[in-house]
Amino acid sequence: MSSGDTWVYDFSQGSKDQKDLLGGKGANLAEMTNLGLPVPPGFTITTDACRYYLEHGGTPDELDAQVGEHLAALEKAMGKTLGDAADPLLVSVRSGAAASMPGMMETVLNVGLNDESVQGLAEQAGSERFAWDSYRRLIQMFGKTVLGIDGELFDEAFDEVKREQGTESDLDLDADHLRDVVARFKAIVRDHTGRDFPQEPREQMDLAINAVFDSWNSDRAVIYRRRERIPSDAGTAVNVCAMVFGNLGMDSGTGVAFTRDPGSGAQGVYGDYLQNAQGEDVVAGIRNTVPLADLRGIDEGAYDELMGIMSRLESHYRDLCDIEFTVERNKLWMLQTRVGKRTAEAAFVIATQLVDEGLIDMDEAVRRVTGDQLAQLMFPRFIAGGNARQLTQGMNASPGAAVGKAVFSSETAVAWEERGEQVILVRRETNPDDLSGMIAARGVLTSRGGKTSHAAVVARGMGKTCVCGAEELQVDTKARRFTAPDGSVVEEGDVISIDGSTGRVWLGEVPVEPSSVVRYFEGEIDPGSEDADELVRSVHRILGHADEVRRLDVRTNADTPEDSARARRFGAHGIGLCRTEHMFLGDRRRHVEKLILAESDDDRQAALDALEPLQRQDFLEIFEAMDGLPVTVRLLDPPLHEFLPDLTELSVRVAVAEAEGHHDEGQLRLLAAVRRMHEENPMLGLRGVRLGLVVPGLFAMQVRAIAEAACERKKAGGDPRPEIMIPLVGAVQELEAIREESVRVLTEVFERERCEVDGLLGTMIEVPRAALTAGEIAGSAEFFSFGTNDLTQMTWGFSRDDVEAAFFHAYLDKGIFGVSPFESIDRDGVGKLVEIAVEAGRAARPDLKLGVCGEHGGDPESVHFFHDVGLDYVSCSPFRVPVARLEAGRAAL
Ligand code: ADP
Ligand code: MG
Ligand code: MG
Repeated sequence: MSSGDTWVYDFSQGSKDQKDLLGGKGANLAEMTNLGLPVPPGFTITTDACRYYLEHGGTPDELDAQVGEHLAALEKAMGKTLGDAADPLLVSVRSGAAASMPGMMETVLNVGLNDESVQGLAEQAGSERFAWDSYRRLIQMFGKTVLGIDGELFDEAFDEVKREQGTESDLDLDADHLRDVVARFKAIVRDHTGRDFPQEPREQMDLAINAVFDSWNSDRAVIYRRRERIPSDAGTAVNVCAMVFGNLGMDSGTGVAFTRDPGSGAQGVYGDYLQNAQGEDVVAGIRNTVPLADLRGIDEGAYDELMGIMSRLESHYRDLCDIEFTVERNKLWMLQTRVGKRTAEAAFVIATQLVDEGLIDMDEAVRRVTGDQLAQLMFPRFIAGGNARQLTQGMNASPGAAVGKAVFSSETAVAWEERGEQVILVRRETNPDDLSGMIAARGVLTSRGGKTSHAAVVARGMGKTCVCGAEELQVDTKARRFTAPDGSVVEEGDVISIDGSTGRVWLGEVPVEPSSVVRYFEGEIDPGSEDADELVRSVHRILGHADEVRRLDVRTNADTPEDSARARRFGAHGIGLCRTEHMFLGDRRRHVEKLILAESDDDRQAALDALEPLQRQDFLEIFEAMDGLPVTVRLLDPPLHEFLPDLTELSVRVAVAEAEGHHDEGQLRLLAAVRRMHEENPMLGLRGVRLGLVVPGLFAMQVRAIAEAACERKKAGGDPRPEIMIPLVGAVQELEAIREESVRVLTEVFERERCEVDGLLGTMIEVPRAALTAGEIAGSAEFFSFGTNDLTQMTWGFSRDDVEAAFFHAYLDKGIFGVSPFESIDRDGVGKLVEIAVEAGRAARPDLKLGVCGEHGGDPESVHFFHDVGLDYVSCSPFRVPVARLEAGRAAL
């Protein structure tokens, strides 16, 4: 950046599309200003300036002068001078990043007050009490935020004065008491910083601006960004805004509101209002707020104007908005708006409502919901009954059914979660320091605060179950317990259940049932019938549209007829991965053992002959469940010794038997085989196609079972579509050998059965070498299915079973990757191999069918990648099928 850069913009100069530069708050303040809404004037210092400050440890040279110019303009517009002794202009200095980070960073109100201007303010407003209340707030916020003094010190001093006056409410303190509070606060500042509270207004402002920049890197902001995957170098903007006062008496107040219910999407009046208070009081739960609807009785003029503005904002943003406002002596001021966070349920419902209101089209509705939200809607719900006892009902702040042990501090939540416990964080109210505990907990329960309290807002953002404002509960965090109205006491460690959809709280574990969305997918709820609630109808419409626009097909990973049938109901168009290893377990293990131990061709063939009819039956049932749709059967993949007893256990058993004088020849032979087959590195050992090449007849048996099952289905009038898939191929020669054998078996069966079944023979691409030689491999494969789990293991050299527990947390902490490459495909590395293979494969064989069958097939981010590289389908577990359908639709838009 060079001189001549603009670091500061007036509210009238920006728009809502400039979030990256002005931050969300600044961009939307500008938008509202330009809509002609009553926004107090002000200016925004850009995120560029913040990035400069964080990089260079100081502000850019021109910033000081530019802030000076804008301040002068603001003073002119207001007809007042910052901190003037007789009639001071006061400002707020507010953080505001591009991505919303509610409550994570800092804001200082009433900047410009000092020992003199507090008198001027009192005279101008005609209220001493108001002026001293504002001054004590400034010292408190400034002390904590800018000077880094522990906020509890101020809280304690404040509480002490209240105690001395025999009251719990700040409203009972008069001007003299508040003057006393100011004196005590100033003493705290002196004691802890060695200097007096800064009196110079411009110095106050500049220090506050820098403190906002610094708050970008506060611990809680860093934790929040990591969780929300917000880039750590984006920086925050700073908004300097003329103060308006909600603490000027009972004809003033402050509030927050939503244009629709962020919990359910229902239309109505949602919000909280607090008379005679400044902004932060509402969220902090200092006093109990009243529902927004009550504002109508308090101040009808302000209420009507607010309703008008809210509906205007909603049509302007074409979405649910949340807002902050203040009423100063019956005059309404807008202080913030943004497209509001909402629950998964509300996201679907609102999207289709907006379509019906003509504000957005169906494409946009599909864009506005996510696969993660849909996945949340598929979580089970509580059913009444069981042994749990209902303790109380609070507010339904963020839906879901959470069961866990009650814990009363963030630290305990984190510690217990780390040792594998499920916990519910119980607090009177939460504040930003509780963030790590909220992340660790299954759910959050508070006894104070409304739907816009910190707990509610943050939990909704995280998709975490939350019940707030359960006022009947006496929460004693110091003693680590709470008491319910019926007198029962819940101690730390007791199991409770909370329902974020109804606000109910129980002692004990409540049983769960499938959600309405899952019952709809299962075909138990007809979306056109009375039974269907608004959510089901929304999901039905949005998924229907996603299905229309998507290019990617969605299949499922299923090994049983039951899973196949369910996945089909959930919208899967065939099976992308039918693993055959499960078919070798249970009773059949003894045949596998015989196969492995066979010392002659006859023994081996006998074992194979015993397995074949069992396999045939498996395939028959799956082909039936997936009639008319492709079924990709993967030939045996895992190392054979996985079907044998554990080496150590068997050694001990044999040793004990020997010591007791039992000599068992069979056991000894088994032990020898297990020892022979033991591998140091089984995932890189004898498995997949290598087994097919080394164990004569094994793959031929599986292919024969598939062919015979297909013929049988066909003769019964069915339409089987088998696709035979060879795993772990690294060289075309491996594939050719198996292919030759398979074609021979297929021809044999078809001739014998006088039946012809269309099918495909293909391979997995999961060894990096296969991706790199995909052109040659495509010569012998009619389809590729990317096995992205193994491909990720082998590309990174990560053993999945070992690394996740061992060091992935360290990698995530250090930012080496933002998300595990096993969760979301690593586009740059593993993805590159996929791209190479797609391109070479299609060049060699234009009609090559391409799919993916790793865990990534159901991951939203990865689905978008697979769409981008041009695969034909993704395959995922049955419960992820709707998620993949939705994301495939979103990827196509
Ligand atoms: P946050 O991002 O944590 O909501 P804000 O910058 O929005 O922080 O401010 C905190 C509180 O102070 C909010 O309730 C806001 O409405 C209020 N506030 C901010 N600026 C002003 C102002 N100029 N006049 C009155 N209240 C303000
Ligand atoms: Mg705000
Ligand atoms: Mg694999």
